[in-house]
Amino acid sequence: MITLVRRVTALCALGAALSVLASCAGPEEMTRAPLPAPSATASVSPSLRAPTLAPGPGGTAPVFEHGPRSGDKAVALTFDADMTADQGPRAAQGERFDNPGLIVALRELKVPATVFMTGRWAEEYPEQARSIGRDPLFEVANHSYSHHSFTDDCYGLPTIAEERMRADVERAYAVFRKVGVRDAMPYFRFPGGCYDRRALRALTPVGVTAVQWDVVSGDAFATDAGAVARGVLDEVRPGSVVVLHCTRSAAPTTERVVRGVVPELRREGFRFVKVSELIRASGTRR
Ligand SMILES: [Zn+2]
Repeated sequence: MITLVRRVTALCALGAALSVLASCAGPEEMTRAPLPAPSATASVSPSLRAPTLAPGPGGTAPVFEHGPRSGDKAVALTFDADMTADQGPRAAQGERFDNPGLIVALRELKVPATVFMTGRWAEEYPEQARSIGRDPLFEVANHSYSHHSFTDDCYGLPTIAEERMRADVERAYAVFRKVGVRDAMPYFRFPGGCYDRRALRALTPVGVTAVQWDVVSGDAFATDAGAVARGVLDEVRPGSVVVLHCTRSAAPTTERVVRGVVPELRREGFRFVKVSELIRASGTRR
């Protein structure tokens, strides 16, 4: 319990909290839902080839939390590249919101991964964003431009107005395009994981699938990589989506966590996949 409290506290400090505000429809329900109208925002160009879920209740953006529990032991490691709109001065003073060593480790270990990047992060680190975006090992997904909250109460994050939500997500896609990320995925992770029906409704026109997680790594502000790794190993199940961070200043142990967790999970028979593969396996609309 103490461990849980610590990990949730750390997670919240980074603005990434478990959401209990909306539930995820099952794959069958999703595949029966009607197809959405074509996105009016094709100009932002999230990949049109990516598997996505059918809309949720009322036609709103669907929510994905994990893949199939049976069959293949697939697990998706996801990395939030966090940087908020007001952290530019801190970056200018030398604070590192990137984590190149982590990306090197994933490449060395040949671990496919999904990187949920804020637009502000991609602006700060355009070469890294492009390099990640053009590496077939990875897929780039959207973590908003500003990393502000899409609900009124989300662990102290500044709140984004409802009428700005869609534009904030589209702005991140625009930055991705500008820095040379091709085919960013139509997947969106809410800052802090906080969302409600209003937020899902606001993002419906963008055509994204909201991606949550079922395993909280607790890497945010952690100092004991071994403890984080053990927690992940305890909780991962077939189909799991694990949330970690690609932000060195706020999650300094993540590279070591990955180097510990990956060989162990492979020994247990798991294989690593990108979120798109779990979504495809869960029932898609394409
Ligand atoms: Zn985040």
